[in-house]
Amino acid sequence: MFLSNYLWSAKDCVPEWYAVAFVSGWALANGYAFCDASALAQSRSVYPLPPRLTTNRKHSVSALQTIPARRGKAVAVKKGQALKIINTHGHQVVDFWAFVAGHLTEYSGMEQCRATWLKLCPDVGDHLYSNRRRPIMTLEEDTSPGRHDTVIAPCDNERYGLLGCTEYHDNCRDNMHAALLELGYSVPFTPCSMNLFMNIPWQQDGSLSFDPPLSSPGEYVLWRAQLDCIAVMSCCPQDILLINNKNTVDAHYQIIN
Ligand SMILES: [Zn+2]
Repeated sequence: MFLSNYLWSAKDCVPEWYAVAFVSGWALANGYAFCDASALAQSRSVYPLPPRLTTNRKHSVSALQTIPARRGKAVAVKKGQALKIINTHGHQVVDFWAFVAGHLTEYSGMEQCRATWLKLCPDVGDHLYSNRRRPIMTLEEDTSPGRHDTVIAPCDNERYGLLGCTEYHDNCRDNMHAALLELGYSVPFTPCSMNLFMNIPWQQDGSLSFDPPLSSPGEYVLWRAQLDCIAVMSCCPQDILLINNKNTVDAHYQIIN
């Protein structure tokens, strides 16, 4: 915000100042920081960095993208950008993760979120905390009834085996790893997901249930990135329980500057 204001006001200044502001803005926008080179090298030796993010802003800004039914998608989100996740048909759960770019062992941690929020569902203004307790994103808008699940693990093939399936079943765990791999990333673990639009009511005695969704077509959540991150979304292929109305469909997302 400060930088954009500075650039705007710089238009009225002498050309030299505008050039300095423009170059600085370009460097920051593209992930370059003016810092001590030895410190940077040391940090890279501790935390090996993956390839630089390759998001092409010209293609990602405000372009509506599909998360296919029963599949996952990953997208790089720069600090300051927002990710809008749209429940297009109104009854589709979207499992959601955020990994810190360059440090994929740091990711959205549901345990850390609940401990900080002191509640089970996020409200507008709440941060998505990492397993190192840093805010990765902030929930800036939510047009749904606000019922999101942070308790239930992402579904996996074993889960469907316990539900009676005798053959492979699409699942959010495999979708997450496949989506990361599409961007060239791989992690040897599956963090607990935030299950957007998933209705898991809880009772006074502590019991839980998998209930039909409360959301309506077109409702969305908008997460503003506090750190450069890799967001992963999976259209949950759960078609045995009621969470998707037993009708698994696609959803959409959008990157907004
Ligand atoms: Zn699932």
